[in-house]
Amino acid sequence: MRRATGTYRALVALLRTIALVLIVVAASGCGGLASLRGMPTIAPLISATFLSVHLFVGDGGDAQERARLPELRDSIAGALPTAWSVATRGRGKLALRTDADIDVKLDGTSGTSALMQHKLGGRVVSQTITVHSVEGSRRLTLPELMATTLHELGHIWCCFGSGTQDGHWSDTPPSFSSVGMMYSPMTCQVAAGSDPVCPTVFSDRELAEMGLNGP
Ligand SMILES: [Zn+2]
Repeated sequence: MRRATGTYRALVALLRTIALVLIVVAASGCGGLASLRGMPTIAPLISATFLSVHLFVGDGGDAQERARLPELRDSIAGALPTAWSVATRGRGKLALRTDADIDVKLDGTSGTSALMQHKLGGRVVSQTITVHSVEGSRRLTLPELMATTLHELGHIWCCFGSGTQDGHWSDTPPSFSSVGMMYSPMTCQVAAGSDPVCPTVFSDRELAEMGLNGP
């Protein structure tokens, strides 16, 4: 019993230390599904099981950001296939190619990242994602941009219906969780002197919306 109490005290002390070092920041605000509210006009034809992405750099941004973007693009492109596999718990594959299921533009201006749907006669004819690398005056880090990219890709399928608002779950958790990518804003954890830690895995209900709830 004494031993258990000692362990508990040590744990409390450890948690207090962590609480002092860590601050939780809300990063990567997302506009959700621009030009879409409620139910999808048509069922998305893109498969989360085999997803191809065209990731490219836009024209916008100041000189410092335009200098940073090509390297960021290469880093995101290099990490995205594995990140997608991890996020989908091994159920989805992702490939980078020029002629892809979806275009993702890395934009060096400040703005709200979003999936945009382009409609013709009420039908969705194409979808594009814009990921902004700057939020206000803050230049986003690679972990934040990875989480934002996964989040925006998730919007191809998620989330609609009860418990959601503008494409996001309305029951945003009060603290950081690495599981669950479809909240707004997304919460990343920042420790002094190191890169933010952001959500990396889709939750069960997200995977279900993406058609990836099988074993
Ligand atoms: Zn969103």
